[in-house]
Amino acid sequence: MDFAYSPKVQALRERVSAFMEEHVYPAEAVFEQQVAEGDRWQPTAIMEQLKDKAREAGLWNLFLPESEYGAGLSNTEYAPLAEIMGSSLIGAEPFNCSAPDTGNMEVLVRYGSAEQKKTWLEPLLAGEIRSAFAMTEPGVASSDATNMQARAVREGDQWLINGRKWWTSGACDPRCKIMIFMGLTNPDAPKHQQHSMILVPTDTPGVKIIRPLPVFGYDDAPHGHAEVLFENVRVPYENVILGEGRGFEIAQGRLGPGRIHHCMRSIGMAERALKLMCQRSVSRSAFGKPLARLGGNLDHIADSRMEINMARLLTLNAAYMMDTVGNKVAASEIAQIKVVAPNVALRVIDRAIQIHGGAGVSNDFPLAYWYAMQRTLRLADGPDEVHRMMVGKYELGKYVSREQMKASR
Ligand SMILES: Cc1cc2nc3c(=O)[nH]c(=O)nc-3n(C[C@H](O)[C@H](O)[C@H](O)COP(=O)(O)OP(=O)(O)OC[C@H]3O[C@@H](n4cnc5c(N)ncnc54)[C@H](O)[C@@H]3O)c2cc1C
Repeated sequence: MDFAYSPKVQALRERVSAFMEEHVYPAEAVFEQQVAEGDRWQPTAIMEQLKDKAREAGLWNLFLPESEYGAGLSNTEYAPLAEIMGSSLIGAEPFNCSAPDTGNMEVLVRYGSAEQKKTWLEPLLAGEIRSAFAMTEPGVASSDATNMQARAVREGDQWLINGRKWWTSGACDPRCKIMIFMGLTNPDAPKHQQHSMILVPTDTPGVKIIRPLPVFGYDDAPHGHAEVLFENVRVPYENVILGEGRGFEIAQGRLGPGRIHHCMRSIGMAERALKLMCQRSVSRSAFGKPLARLGGNLDHIADSRMEINMARLLTLNAAYMMDTVGNKVAASEIAQIKVVAPNVALRVIDRAIQIHGGAGVSNDFPLAYWYAMQRTLRLADGPDEVHRMMVGKYELGKYVSREQMKASR
């Protein structure tokens, strides 16, 4: 694999970096202020302005590999751009590249019907609406997606949906107009054909946002993570994506690219934390020396640099595999980076917090919030342990057959 950025990617990196410097970083405080002073669950004016500017600059929908939509970049080409966007918590949305919309748009691009694309994909691509993915349920261990119990029953030309979901990210935002609901449609089918993904408009009668769930006390407004009740919700039968019982087939596709974007962004956040760590450690002194020169602090800086570089190369490798051999064959690489990226980011941010002393855990610096956010990624995208299980199985699979593996459980 050639790790050099092509001239096209290098030019885009420069444009995205310049946009971040000129528009996004200065807007961070404004965004926080607008969320704090208004109704926290309303979109901010500053974000809409940033979106207009990015659209005008032609920096729009940069994700979406192998598609007639978007900028036509491969995963490998998009990775360094997502990394730059990830250096700010508000960095992805201006470019219409934020979660969970990117994953949901990919689902619609790959598996949506012409009608579904027209109704939902087009306004999502235009940044006019946002979306959510409702899979996890409070009542079952959702790291095993085959456990999902929320029911969708076919009644004539409709689905009747009942169930409770939570951690439905983005559902608190009034711009969120559509949810991809993952529900049990046929309990008698083989295990991986029991569930379907169904498009549920958020204004359908019976869809109730119960509450936003805070993360370590942060509400992530106006995006939020919602508990959602589906009570006798009825949607047309044709709202099913790809077909009945094909939820897992889609999940395999969705949980690849859409989710590796988190890893790319985590590296960007770690990189910015390292920058803050270095700046702080040379600008303050104790015991007659700059903080950087005390104890093992230089080692912490060096370890952070090495870990970030390793994580970046592993992410690029996963992206490259996705581009060249496909998401299915790249499953182990995708799982590896999902464990590595947030863990590396957490370690780097933790060291940056430490070197900032009390300031590190305050809200005067973004580190505490970043830490909370990265910590959730060790769960939000499936727990580390589940990804490790996948990586471990792939390794063992080199030495034993599938049947032997099953028998040894
Ligand atoms: C901030 C945030 C945002 C989220 N966004 C979304 C979203 O938009 N849509 C959505 O549907 N869900 C979302 N989730 C939910 C997330 O996907 C689930 O929390 C996750 O899959 C784990 O499911 P669970 O919480 O039911 O934990 P459980 O399944 O109960 O697992 C609990 C623990 O059991 C252990 N465990 C599980 N499996 C294994 C294993 N194989 N080996 C060893 N140990 C294991 C792990 O330690 C795991 O953390 C989000 C979560 C968070 C925190």
